[in-house]
Amino acid sequence: MEIRRLILVGAGALGSFFLLSAGRLGVDRIDVFDGDIVREENIGNQPIFSLQDARKALYKTDALMKIKTVLRPTELVGHNFYVTGRNMENLPLGKHTVIVDCTDNVETKLLLNALAVKEKIPLLSLSAHGAKGSVYLMDGREACLECIYGGVFDKLSRTGCDRLSPVYASFVSSVGVDELSFFMKSGRSHGFISIDAEKRRIETVHLKKSKECSICVKRYFNQRISLDFIQLCGNSIKMSVQHDVNIQNIKRLLKGKKRIVGDSLLVKNNGKEMLISPSGDILFTGYLKDEAERLLRKIEA
Ligand SMILES: [Zn+2]
Repeated sequence: MEIRRLILVGAGALGSFFLLSAGRLGVDRIDVFDGDIVREENIGNQPIFSLQDARKALYKTDALMKIKTVLRPTELVGHNFYVTGRNMENLPLGKHTVIVDCTDNVETKLLLNALAVKEKIPLLSLSAHGAKGSVYLMDGREACLECIYGGVFDKLSRTGCDRLSPVYASFVSSVGVDELSFFMKSGRSHGFISIDAEKRRIETVHLKKSKECSICVKRYFNQRISLDFIQLCGNSIKMSVQHDVNIQNIKRLLKGKKRIVGDSLLVKNNGKEMLISPSGDILFTGYLKDEAERLLRKIEA
């Protein structure tokens, strides 16, 4: 299977470790998509980022560029925004492309799944929670992610984004790189690979498509693809207004103690925190969801 380009979504723990060993896949180019900013809590389990990156509040996709030389001759290109239902149709998808999902939330996984099925592009999906993880290379022959997770979406969508141990994350990512390498050589997938990183145990299972699947069987894509990005993560909420914003205007608009960090605006108000990037991504810490949505509308206007 000739693969020349990877679309890597998510530059957290799984994405960073994946990138560090992706050079051996020998693809021409890797495009990384993530709207997140390096924060101090990322240091230690996301091996590419440093404390300096966090102090400068660099986008992860910018901070990643320090491994550009490690990946050569594979070209590394960063895109500092989240993939959502509104912009995913613009992803540079082509014939010899694989989408690599290293995100930590089910919403985005199911969006990428719908896109991959619709465009008939292979999807490699990596997940990890604690020591348990999974790797699934989906090539259209067996179950899609909607068949597997669609029915339990509401339950699962609130369980992502725990802080992964770097040991477990690197293990899951290396299984992912191996699986992609196997697919490139043989044109086949091992099926759904479940991983117990603590016991170093790997099991594979072949899953059939669900007859009722709205995506790979019935092909109703609009419902999934219209979803906007929202992620709840402990006491943090990530949201996006999906367009560039004027940080100085917003600074005047909002109450609280305000400070520019890197290109972003940090607002502290009664123990709560908001980090707003010029490309319209916002990380709310300590806010309730409806409170965050109200602020989002204010920023969007
Ligand atoms: Zn399906």
